Amino acid sequence: MSELRLDPLSREWITIAARRIDRPVTTGVAPAGGGLLCPFCPVPPGASPEMRATSEAPRGDYDVAVFENRFPSLGGPDAGMLSAGPFATGYRLAPGFGRAEIVLYSPRHDVHLASIPESRVQLLVEVWRDRTEALYADPAVDYVFPFENRGRDIGATIDHPHGQIYAYPFIPSRVAREVEQVRSHREEEGECLQCDILRREQREGRRMVDQEGTWTAFVPFAPRFPSEVHLVPGRHAGRLAELRGAEVAALARLLRRMVRRYDGLYGSPMQYMMCVYQSSRAPRPADLWHLRLAFYPLYRAQRRMKYLAGSESGAGAFLQDALPEAMAADLRGVAM
Ligand SMILES: [Zn+2]
Ligand SMILES: [Zn+2]
Repeated sequence: MSELRLDPLSREWITIAARRIDRPVTTGVAPAGGGLLCPFCPVPPGASPEMRATSEAPRGDYDVAVFENRFPSLGGPDAGMLSAGPFATGYRLAPGFGRAEIVLYSPRHDVHLASIPESRVQLLVEVWRDRTEALYADPAVDYVFPFENRGRDIGATIDHPHGQIYAYPFIPSRVAREVEQVRSHREEEGECLQCDILRREQREGRRMVDQEGTWTAFVPFAPRFPSEVHLVPGRHAGRLAELRGAEVAALARLLRRMVRRYDGLYGSPMQYMMCVYQSSRAPRPADLWHLRLAFYPLYRAQRRMKYLAGSESGAGAFLQDALPEAMAADLRGVAM
C-alpha cells in the first residue's frame, strides 16, 4: 500500500511506499545451474519450497515476460492510504493507486538488450505497446511509462535484464512541463515541436548519431546527461500503438545498436536509464504529443559517474563537461 502527497512548493506528486524496503537484492551473479540468488532466474527442478517462494520468475520457457511487481513502488491495484490524518488544512494527499510491472527480456541472466535477438527486442516493443494500451484502459491511470534502469549505479537492485512499466494516477511533472511546451509551440507556430526539432537536427546534422527506417537518434541540443540520446520517429505518432509494423522493427534495430554504441563508448557496459515517452491518457493530446525514447547514460568517461549533485538535484540546473556535438561524434565513431 502507498499514498500520494503533493509537494505544495513544486506541485509534484510524491509516492510514499513504505513496504519497498523489503525488496530483495541480488549479488548480480547467478550461481551455476540455479540462479536462486536472482529472483528473476528460472527455478531449477528440485528447488526447495523456500526457494520457490522467493522466486518471482515466470514458470516455463518464454521470450519476453511481463508481470505485476511483487514489491510495487506505486501501491498496486488496490488503492489505499498509509497514514491516518488529521493533516493541516492545505495539504493534499491521495490514495497511492498505481501499477508497477516488470518486463523480463530473457530467462537468461547474462544477456542484455543488444545481445538478445532482434526479434525479441521487437517483441519487447510490442509488449510495451500492448501493456500501455491495457493500462490506459483503466480510467484511474493518467500516464503509462515504460523504462529500464540498467546497472547498479543507477539503482537497479536486480541485475537480471529487465525493464519496468509504471502506470501513474497523475501526469509526472517533467512530462507535464513538456506537454505545456508542446502545446504552446503548436498554438504559436502551428506545428508539432518535436517534428520541428527533428527537422532542425536533420538540417544541422552535427548531433546525429544513427538512423533506421524513419527513426532518428540524436544527442539533443541541450542534453542533461552525458551522451544523452533521443530516438524519434519521423512520422508524427503519439504512442507506440500508432506505429506501423516496419516502424516497430526499425525501432528494435536502432535500440540494439544504441546499446552497442554505449557499451563500446568506454569499453564497458554503460549504466543508463532508458525511457519511453508517449501521450497521456486523457485528455488525450493525440495530435499534440510526438513519441520519443530517451537514453540517459550515467558515465561521462570510463567508470566515471556523472552524479546528480547539488546543482542538478537541488536546483534542477544540469551541467555538462562535454560539447553535445562532440558526444554525438564519439557515439557515431564507435566501431560496431
Ligand atoms: Zn537472473
Ligand atoms: Zn510531431
